[in-house]
Amino acid sequence: MKYKGIWTIAEAEDGRIKEVSYELLTRGKRLSKKLGCELTSILLSNNISEEQAEELILRGADKVYLANAPELEHFIVENYSNVLIELIKKYKPAIILSAATTSGRALMPHVAIRMHAGLTADCTELDIEEDSNDLLQTRPAIGGNILATIKTPEHRPQMATVRPRSTRPAQVDYSRQGKGEIINYQYNQQLFDGRVERIAFRNDAEEDNIQDAEIVVAGGKGLKKKENFDLLNELAGRLNGVIGASREAIDRDWLSYPHQIGLSGKTVTPKLYIAAGISGAIQHLAGMKTAETIIAINQDPEAAIFKVADFGIVGDLFEIIPEINELLEKE
Ligand code: FAD
Repeated sequence: MKYKGIWTIAEAEDGRIKEVSYELLTRGKRLSKKLGCELTSILLSNNISEEQAEELILRGADKVYLANAPELEHFIVENYSNVLIELIKKYKPAIILSAATTSGRALMPHVAIRMHAGLTADCTELDIEEDSNDLLQTRPAIGGNILATIKTPEHRPQMATVRPRSTRPAQVDYSRQGKGEIINYQYNQQLFDGRVERIAFRNDAEEDNIQDAEIVVAGGKGLKKKENFDLLNELAGRLNGVIGASREAIDRDWLSYPHQIGLSGKTVTPKLYIAAGISGAIQHLAGMKTAETIIAINQDPEAAIFKVADFGIVGDLFEIIPEINELLEKE
């Protein structure tokens, strides 16, 4: 049997399909159109109904393999990869995409090694090479200074993880109702060897809300010291936004790591991104340049951040931000 078709690995938590699953469908739809092949979503969980899985069809999947099992309720890499490998060996997809989330980053290398396949982590762009039909996997390399395009000719399946928030989620299309197929996958119980037991799960609330926030107010080294983030906290509070930061600010312990935006931090796509005292290094831009509107405040008119900003304010942030806070207070 030849390897064909595209798979996306959907994710679920607390009985709800996560938004990243729909972002992967945006990628998958474009690629499957180019290849003229089927798009399948794989959903491993314990409590997702067929009605819920239908949303993957409405957003573009032609087929969904749904596996519900108590052993799949929480992400345990051994259980997930055992089921996934059984599915891959049986149905032979040519391309497998997962989100570069905590679980995707653990699952895909596990599966790739066992399948003797290549894996490109943290892709920001995906395409199909015309003559060969190989997957072109683009990701930042050499500290984010170049974008490298990688392909794995010969080897199948081709596997990649995709940066969350690097594209918009596929929208629901009600004309697709009844068009796809949901298959309740009958896994082999022996796949769960029970060697690993999940004892507890601790949610990092800060980490969650920065990527979902509509307004992010971010500060960099220009803030000079930790206490000065009070200014940004005030602004974010008035705007109902959350606080983000450049790596320079995180490395100085002014804020905790879940706030870091950029290549080695989070990617955010808020409606409004305010960058104060941030120079706009390429590694920072990698995490925020797709924000809908960017306002930059920097005293250096040559700062690179102004190249991606929709509105730029050249000046001292210690004068400008208190003025904005004052204006907002009067409103
Ligand atoms: P700086 O570059 O020092 O800029 C400070 C800015 O503040 C300057 O432009 C200055 O003009 C301005 N300023 C100073 N005082 C004032 C004032 N009073 N009013 C207004 N403006 C003022 N960086 C990230 O942010 N996120 C990442 O995820 C990330 N990952 C990286 C991964 C790798 C592999 C590497 C090599 C680097 C990474 N970096 C990352 C670091 C990145 O290269 C930059 O060093 C960093 O983004 C700079 O942070 P900054 O803009 O806060 O500091």
